[in-house]
Amino acid sequence: MSLLETRQAQMFPVLDPVQVETARRFASGPPRVFQPGELLYEVGERNVPSWLLLEGNIAITRHDGLGRTEAMVVERPGQFTGEVSQLAGRGTLAAARAGPDGATALPFDAAHLRALLIGTAELGETIMRALILRRMSLLEAGVTGAILVGPPDHPDVVRLEVFLSRNSYPHTLLDVLGDGEGHALVERMGVAPDELPLMICPNGTILRRPSNAEAASCLGILIPLVPGKVYDVAVVGAGPAGLATAVYAASEGLSVLALDQRATGGQAGASARIENYLGFPTGISGQALAGRAWNQAQKFGAEIAVPLEVTRLDCDASRAPGQPLRLELGDGGAALAKTVVIASGARYRRPAIPNIEEFEGAGVSYWASAVEAKLCEGEEVALVGGGNSAGQAVVFLAPKVERLHLIVRGPDLRASMSRYLIDRIAALPNVELHPHTEIVGLEGARSTGLSAAICRHRQTGEEVRRTLRHLFLFIGADPNAGWLQGCVETDDKGFVVTGAQAGLPLETALPGVFAIGDVRAGSTKRVAAAVGEGAAVVAQIHAFLGGLTTTA
Ligand SMILES: Cc1cc2nc3c(=O)[nH]c(=O)nc-3n(C[C@H](O)[C@H](O)[C@H](O)COP(=O)(O)OP(=O)(O)OC[C@H]3O[C@@H](n4cnc5c(N)ncnc54)[C@H](O)[C@@H]3O)c2cc1C
Repeated sequence: MSLLETRQAQMFPVLDPVQVETARRFASGPPRVFQPGELLYEVGERNVPSWLLLEGNIAITRHDGLGRTEAMVVERPGQFTGEVSQLAGRGTLAAARAGPDGATALPFDAAHLRALLIGTAELGETIMRALILRRMSLLEAGVTGAILVGPPDHPDVVRLEVFLSRNSYPHTLLDVLGDGEGHALVERMGVAPDELPLMICPNGTILRRPSNAEAASCLGILIPLVPGKVYDVAVVGAGPAGLATAVYAASEGLSVLALDQRATGGQAGASARIENYLGFPTGISGQALAGRAWNQAQKFGAEIAVPLEVTRLDCDASRAPGQPLRLELGDGGAALAKTVVIASGARYRRPAIPNIEEFEGAGVSYWASAVEAKLCEGEEVALVGGGNSAGQAVVFLAPKVERLHLIVRGPDLRASMSRYLIDRIAALPNVELHPHTEIVGLEGARSTGLSAAICRHRQTGEEVRRTLRHLFLFIGADPNAGWLQGCVETDDKGFVVTGAQAGLPLETALPGVFAIGDVRAGSTKRVAAAVGEGAAVVAQIHAFLGGLTTTA
């Protein structure tokens, strides 16, 4: 059964008169009267308020860019419109129209909606849960969000699917292979193969092979920054560490901007099941954890810009004390802040295999999410790596594939993998461990994808050619510190050094610039540790800002 069927009462709660009066104090304007059939807002519109219905009714529908429409609910007095998009003025995924009797409703723009959520504990919890459940319901619904049109294993289709999934944005894929709707659409529009994939936004706009940033702008995921605004804290990277800083700093009243070049959740977001994070005995997917943190950060008013890469920290020595720090951005813009938190984590290490880049996204993957699992269902695959992230991916993928070759350079898994994962893998009949082995060559082409991998036994030198279309690589991570270009001290492996020169423990040698999580030298490369540092740095930011005010 769908969420809409099982959790309807929590998804569309009816506030009682006392709750309505409590909420009224937080409204962003007086009640507004809508005529019968009048549109309150359309799909894709930004900065639309959440409306609390006082009289009449409001019909909520969802539709996609091809005009397919589905009714969600008819709201009555005491109910409110909106989902998590409303927390930050992102493009809305549903439309609202006054019913046959018209409607009278109270508006709550993003800031006032957040004030209501924070200002009223129980009522706030009821409303926050409803907003989250509505997004989850939209994610499982067919008719909503973006439509991708292209071949399922096309590298750009995979890239966009991963981007949309990792950012919890609903989407469907119309396969152009075969004679289905996707094929007919491409024929009708006369789209050339090199223009694929298409992306159809809910407002009907059609993009041809869009970048993630173009897709995000069209879908209202990426919110334009306010030029010249000086934040108390700018966080580079919205992985577990950066998200923790965003939540704690915003909940303590600081103005926060968190930027991520790809998606919230970072490395953890790519994990199918995190079982050793405190408080989740049955485990939680990295994406679910990231989704919760993202909603939490938004509730407290943190601004999260995704996808937006930070290309440089301006660490010009002539900057006067107290003058804001400046971050240069991939879209040519800049962000200003009194403090900067480096939470850019680590990126997947690329093995020294010739022509590997040709196959990245075309058969070679550094993570194993539901998107990749769907692509290699029932096939023979190989996975390289002996650490926990590799182990988790084996446990996740093995039940979905025909055979999984687990390739490690060492004699076995004991030196690098947690016991529980080794035991799980041992119980999987279709997993074959290849010790003392490495991949030395790949065959195929980007247009058609990977077709085979050459495996060499490191002791005997014997080579085996394995026919396979999917190869997963989990061979460690290197710090994402290139964008800092010598602004801060790094250790011999490139991790950022903090706590030197009597600075605050998480502060770099550059005053007001902090580093946390996997990118920090000496940090423990675990979700809980990253979250811990993300929380701990906020107290140090307060201390720094306090110092600024006393010297000003
Ligand atoms: C597959 C996998 C499974 C794992 N499983 C577990 C587990 O079960 N338990 C556990 O405790 N740990 C696990 N880990 C480790 C854990 O995920 C990391 O320790 C944790 O994610 C580190 O968090 P972080 O925020 O410091 O960095 P990251 O998670 O690396 O996040 C950094 C973020 O910064 C962004 N970024 C980087 N550079 C820039 C830039 N220039 N501009 C803008 N954004 C930028 C990236 O896009 C990324 O989103 C796993 C790791 C992997 C890869």
